[in-house]
Amino acid sequence: MNPENSWLRKILQVVPEIKAGIGKGIVIAALYEGIKIIPIIIIKHIIDYFVTNQSNTVQLIYFIGGVLLAYVVLEIIDYFSEKASFKWTIRYETTLLRKAKKKLLELHLGYHESFNTGAQVSKITKGTHKLTELVYFTFEEFIPTTIQLVITLSLLFYEQWVLALLFALFTPLILLVTLHASKKVQPYRKKYHQKYDEAVGELGESLLNITTVKDYVQEQRQFRKFNVLLGEYIANAQKRWEIGSSIFLWRNLLISIGRVLTLAVAAYLVLKGTLSAGSLVLVYTLTERAFLATQRIGRLYNYLGDAMESINRLTSLLQEQAEVKNYPGALSVSKLQGQVEFKDLTFSYSSGNPVLSAVNLGIKPRQIVALVGRSGSGKTTMAKLVLRNYDVAQGAVLVDGKNIKQYKIEDYKKRIAVVSQNVEIFNRTALENILFANPLATKRQAIAAAKKAHAHEFILGFSQGYDTLVGEKGVRLSGGQKQRISIARALLKNPDIYIFDEATSSLDTESEQYIQKSIFSIAGKKTTIIIAHRLSTIRKADLIVVMDKGKIVEQGTYDELWQKQGAFWKMIQLQKVVELRE
Ligand code: ADP
Ligand code: MG
Repeated sequence: MNPENSWLRKILQVVPEIKAGIGKGIVIAALYEGIKIIPIIIIKHIIDYFVTNQSNTVQLIYFIGGVLLAYVVLEIIDYFSEKASFKWTIRYETTLLRKAKKKLLELHLGYHESFNTGAQVSKITKGTHKLTELVYFTFEEFIPTTIQLVITLSLLFYEQWVLALLFALFTPLILLVTLHASKKVQPYRKKYHQKYDEAVGELGESLLNITTVKDYVQEQRQFRKFNVLLGEYIANAQKRWEIGSSIFLWRNLLISIGRVLTLAVAAYLVLKGTLSAGSLVLVYTLTERAFLATQRIGRLYNYLGDAMESINRLTSLLQEQAEVKNYPGALSVSKLQGQVEFKDLTFSYSSGNPVLSAVNLGIKPRQIVALVGRSGSGKTTMAKLVLRNYDVAQGAVLVDGKNIKQYKIEDYKKRIAVVSQNVEIFNRTALENILFANPLATKRQAIAAAKKAHAHEFILGFSQGYDTLVGEKGVRLSGGQKQRISIARALLKNPDIYIFDEATSSLDTESEQYIQKSIFSIAGKKTTIIIAHRLSTIRKADLIVVMDKGKIVEQGTYDELWQKQGAFWKMIQLQKVVELRE
């Protein structure tokens, strides 16, 4: 049975920690099942004792004492094995969660950008739950039942090989029906898991974008969409259940026929005098146990199929490889000069059209470079590539003369700070949000950075100052406040290269001017790439790079570009009107 093989292999691959437990589980189960069979054998002897009219009461007491002793030992083993599997399951579950979180954190940004957050969370929680449940079942059901079947059948062969043979004829039939059922329900199984993930993904998305949902009064539609997905989930689950249970009806019927048949044959053998009454009871009990064990294994197999869908999703996540990673012999860096070069760089997101093509750009250490250009022209992408959020296949980004792939990622990224277009704020205090850049910094340093970023005043205005919780995704902050916190964060990091990606776009003109002062106060000390629209910002840059449709169309100083009267000049003409109006 291949699926079982791959199931075990898969689990072992993902969590090799359970290997140790399996050996122990088999020993405990063998002990348990071995003792469990004792009372059944004793009962045969008790019956035969009465049938043959013996009068040795001491023997009878021994028999009953033996049953009692077996039960007591069984209960004790059961207690310890339950305790162990409980402890074990919890440990296993947390190990899985830990692995999932670690994996998610290490995966490159491109991976995350292509997945829905809610669906990811559902994948992890459901997969972990199912995998843990499966391990629990493996220890508490699958291993014991298999051992039980082996013990029972051995005893049956020993007692009455004819009946054992009869049973042996039925088993393959039962297993075949089980396999058939599993195959038949597979498509529905797959689909209902998919729909469930989609529904949870939808739920997550509504929550992540709750403000927009509310602003556009889309609650009803969001709910309907969710309901449609749940409806499809139910339909597929039901279909799966219907098909499964109708096949299982046949399986159970088969089992019943088998049981009655063995009983009939056993009765015949008693009549013929080849079987004692006690043996009849024993043999019947044994065949019944064997049939039930087969049925249970079948049910487990079916459960396995269900769980496998969820588990596969989780394991494929855990086996996902980060595309951006350290290469062997990666260089440690503690400081960068800050020379940045784009060399014949062409880049596209996951096999789409090139977003940047044949970009060549040299930035000297401590230069201030302004990237300008229409929205969608590839400016943010350039920033992401400097930060090595993606690896480029064609061309390269060089820093201090070396391809950035040669540096140790952690070291390298520590030397760069980005204030991105979409500021991310954690549901922690204002102080913690600033300290995120450098948890080892002191509060005083954080405040100094906040002052430079012009964030100090508004933070002090909060009821609890720096200890105020700013809310998930910073919902309690205005766009400009978020940007200022993000700038403080970047300043606190004290890197060698700064990237400001439309960092002041949500600010009023006055705050912007203040912040520009801070930004330009680091100018001449650190390499600074500024993506901006405002003329006042751009004018101060050492180098202006004009982007259009993923290409650099012009670069030079303000005066050079102004005199050229090209793309930049045209842009300024348009913008001037805008700035005058402001
Ligand atoms: P800009 O910052 O100049 O406005 P971007 O660099 O953000 O431009 O985007 C350049 C192009 O790349 C756009 O066409 C955008 O649709 C596309 N793009 C940006 N991010 C992604 C992504 N994660 N996956 C696919 N395409 C993307
Ligand atoms: Mg952008």
